[in-house]
Amino acid sequence: MINLTKLYCGQDSGSDTLRYGQGEGAAPSAGQRKPIVVWTMSRRCNLHCVHCYTDSENRAYPGELGADDVQRMLEDLAVFQIPALLLSGGEPLAHPYFFQYARYAAGLGLKLTLSTNGTLIDRPTAERIQQTGFRYVGISFDGLGKINDQFRGKAGAFDAALAGVRHLKAVGQKVGLRFTLTRRNVDALPQIFELVEREGIDRVCFYHLVYSGRGSRIAQDDLSHAQTRDVLDQLCAWAIALENAGPEVEILTVDNHVDGVYLYLKLRDADPAHAEYARQLLEWNGGGANSSGVGIANIDAQGHVHPDQFWQTHTLGNVRERPFSEMWSDSREPLLTALRNRLPLLKGRCASCRWKSLCGGSFRVRALQATGDVWAPDPACYLTEEEIA
Ligand code: SF4
Repeated sequence: MINLTKLYCGQDSGSDTLRYGQGEGAAPSAGQRKPIVVWTMSRRCNLHCVHCYTDSENRAYPGELGADDVQRMLEDLAVFQIPALLLSGGEPLAHPYFFQYARYAAGLGLKLTLSTNGTLIDRPTAERIQQTGFRYVGISFDGLGKINDQFRGKAGAFDAALAGVRHLKAVGQKVGLRFTLTRRNVDALPQIFELVEREGIDRVCFYHLVYSGRGSRIAQDDLSHAQTRDVLDQLCAWAIALENAGPEVEILTVDNHVDGVYLYLKLRDADPAHAEYARQLLEWNGGGANSSGVGIANIDAQGHVHPDQFWQTHTLGNVRERPFSEMWSDSREPLLTALRNRLPLLKGRCASCRWKSLCGGSFRVRALQATGDVWAPDPACYLTEEEIA
């Protein structure tokens, strides 16, 4: 995750302690921090999004964790002192014990965030979310009106999610918008920013496409490199405009760590001192802003542990059989060890790239999905040969 508002505009936010090692409680280096855990608490979902990485449908899935498993897992995560637990899915609010588990986690001192499609949030649900103590709720939109509904696979999904945003804002809950960038919706950015301003949304996260689950079937809709550069330029312009307009809105990009290098190169000519500040923050993050296997982990609905939520093809073990904390600390696990020392393993243009310590070779699981080789170059890298030489 690249905090464009912080790196490009220099504006701080509370989450930067985790992301850039600043402030009280920050780890001295990215490699020493505990992971944010994404718990895919159920695969079931009431929508059918075209890019869903869990390939979810509206049906029960066998073998998902039971109450005793969940309780043990949450207690282990709390003792391990993970910095945050992100409840995801499927649609987490479709889980019958969502609030029971969330309250138990909050009672253990775990810091909670929620990733939801927003369509099941009425006013009482918004109140319960806020009272449970969620720090942040991210709601997915992929355009306005029918464009969003086509992505989400359900007519009326946009209106229902917008109602969810309004209910959350009305009860004082911090809310973010999550937008997956593709050729089908990239023209909607101006309308998305109008929505953000109009609704007082606190944060907007732009996700680069990852070819997992149903996302693998729309890989051809990924942006061209020229389109990605144009999007980054637009986002920088919006970051400046929003900063000047008043109320703080954070803009982040997710799942392409080349964005950090691109921002640095944009800043370097205009403001060398600011560029150096941005470079130091990126270097602290060890390049793995995505941090698969380092700063982020995934536990799926059946209890399998993965290096991140997109990396379902590699399992470290199951929390029913072994505590997460043990699996994550096991130095004999070859993929985790490799991901934590990834730079010497990169191949092709990443191996010789002058920015690899800032970027970390970007998103390794996308390289794996596109080429079959986890250490091959990330096909979504949009820097030119001149820029990386
Ligand atoms: S070539 Fe590889 S290491 Fe360099 S910026 Fe691109 S993805 Fe990152």
